[in-house]
Amino acid sequence: MRKEAVIAIRNINHYYGKGALKRQILFDINLDIYPGEIVIMTGPSGSGKTTLLSLIGGLRSVQEGSLKFLGVELSGASQSQLVQIRRSIGYIFQAHNLLGFLTARQNVQMAVELNNHVAPEEAIAHAQAMLQAVGLENRVNYYPDNLSGGQKQRIAIARALVNNPPLVLADEPTAALDKQSGRDVVEIMQRLAKEQGTAILLVTHDNRILDIADRIVEMEDGLLARDSQSVVISYESGTSGEKP
Ligand code: ADP
Ligand code: MG
Repeated sequence: MRKEAVIAIRNINHYYGKGALKRQILFDINLDIYPGEIVIMTGPSGSGKTTLLSLIGGLRSVQEGSLKFLGVELSGASQSQLVQIRRSIGYIFQAHNLLGFLTARQNVQMAVELNNHVAPEEAIAHAQAMLQAVGLENRVNYYPDNLSGGQKQRIAIARALVNNPPLVLADEPTAALDKQSGRDVVEIMQRLAKEQGTAILLVTHDNRILDIADRIVEMEDGLLARDSQSVVISYESGTSGEKP
């Protein structure tokens, strides 16, 4: 048996606007993501990727359908339940969203302190270990402005993963990076996710990083048009009949 899904989405529809301006953006979305799985979502601009990510992250209320995070239904959830769920998710955005008046270490440390009641020394040690894991042990006391785009994004990864969340949502994390830094950033995410058993849902336009995915799903005009897992399963059942 597989472990419980981190995310289980059933028949999600989503709309923006009201009355005559109401427009459907997501159509009958179904998607499961399992612990430790790296799922890449591709698709043209405007196809609904960020909208879906914000629903999964509890940043927007579910309008129609069911969305469960570790078995907890987000549809109809209260604001305080949503806040609780947001705490259990790591976020990485295109713009790193670091606080410019805090050093690399303080940015990561703050994420520890917001989530846990720990002594400052413990939060500092934890933040430093995480910055080491992303290769920034020599930059812990730097301010974001004095670091490259790739380094800033690595701080954002350290911050997203420092509390060992079951799920990380990354919205075009390499969009502002050159080819090599983009590659480095996703490889670090991949390694840490595998070490920690974290599931990652990563939205990208960047075809050069598709190989880090366990699965690729494609959004088109608000529909999940293709899920590479279905291809794998039908192929497996047609040959050995057994999953590895
Ligand atoms: P993607 O991330 O794939 O580019 P989005 O989810 O951002 O797609 O947007 C999907 C569609 O919804 C687009 O047509 C966009 O213009 C529209 N949209 C996104 N956010 C809002 C909003 N807050 N209000 C109204 N329309 C929106
Ligand atoms: Mg988007």
